[in-house]
Amino acid sequence: MIKKILLIYTGGTIGMIRNKVNNKLIPFTLESLLLSVPELQNDELIIEYKSIKHPIDSSNMNIHVWVEIVDIIEKNYNKYDGFVILHGSDTMSYTASALSFMLENINKAVILTGSQIPIGVRRTDAKENLITAIEIAAMEKINEVCIYFENQLFRGNRTTKINTEDFEAFKSPNFPVLAEIGVKIKFNTNCLTKSNEKLIVHKNLSNNIAILKLYPGIKLEVIALIMKNVKGIVIESFGAGNATDDPRLGKLFEDMINQGKIIINVSQCIHGNIISGEYESSAPFENKNIINGKDITTEAAVTKLMYLLGLSNNDSEIRTKLNKNLRGEVTC
Ligand code: ASP
Repeated sequence: MIKKILLIYTGGTIGMIRNKVNNKLIPFTLESLLLSVPELQNDELIIEYKSIKHPIDSSNMNIHVWVEIVDIIEKNYNKYDGFVILHGSDTMSYTASALSFMLENINKAVILTGSQIPIGVRRTDAKENLITAIEIAAMEKINEVCIYFENQLFRGNRTTKINTEDFEAFKSPNFPVLAEIGVKIKFNTNCLTKSNEKLIVHKNLSNNIAILKLYPGIKLEVIALIMKNVKGIVIESFGAGNATDDPRLGKLFEDMINQGKIIINVSQCIHGNIISGEYESSAPFENKNIINGKDITTEAAVTKLMYLLGLSNNDSEIRTKLNKNLRGEVTC
């Protein structure tokens, strides 16, 4: 059966070509990009494409562009068997995480891919990434938001970018890959999902949040200042969820919670879990209103908070949902 895939172009290295005059990378048009991959023209696949209004380096990503992407998917949801999004790798994990929360009950593949070397350069990794992402989207086995990069298919909200130089730019530190790609495409069937519910699209995100990365010697005033100006805070703590045993920090957190702040504690380590109460230095987090982020990535924690703050004004409902596994983003 002929499969229809919608390719959504957002920008990034994948769509660039080297300008012969000044040797700088400049954006390629989507049409030229598709022409440079003749393998995409075949009888079994219909590939159509759309672009966001102004393609960007993904370092310029923001909640409005996420809504623009989700709008394209929503309007075309019933017309296509799957979606592939061309995206810069720098913030791809944030976008994949955000889309996973915005597209509740999705039962088609939405696969983000990009490349480390532009498509217009001879040694590019873009062609393989693009062709395989399309191939997987057309197989109708995947029903969630994923990242495909360098022979691996990942659950999007479990990924983090770990390398600026290697082709293997992403890792899913706390969740198995969904598929390994070699001569055959081997799916990890135990980890695949399927929803029988109707798609619900969420477009109201709040960016009234901050990431607070602890470091030895951080001043309490700095912590207070960052927390004062936002509603939601992702705290990146040390190791298994430690800060300091200075009681003033626990008191500061308590005051912030009384002012209605939503706090989630995630680890600066990419592998493993937050384990509450293991060390005395985890004492500041022993407040039942601070959410234990367990093995969630910072990218997923940030976008989950943006999603939940846009969804509800009720702090206890936000905390309850923040504590749950909503889209496979955390091991509970
Ligand atoms: N700066 C680029 C971007 O994220 C890097 C890339 O595409 O890999 O848009």
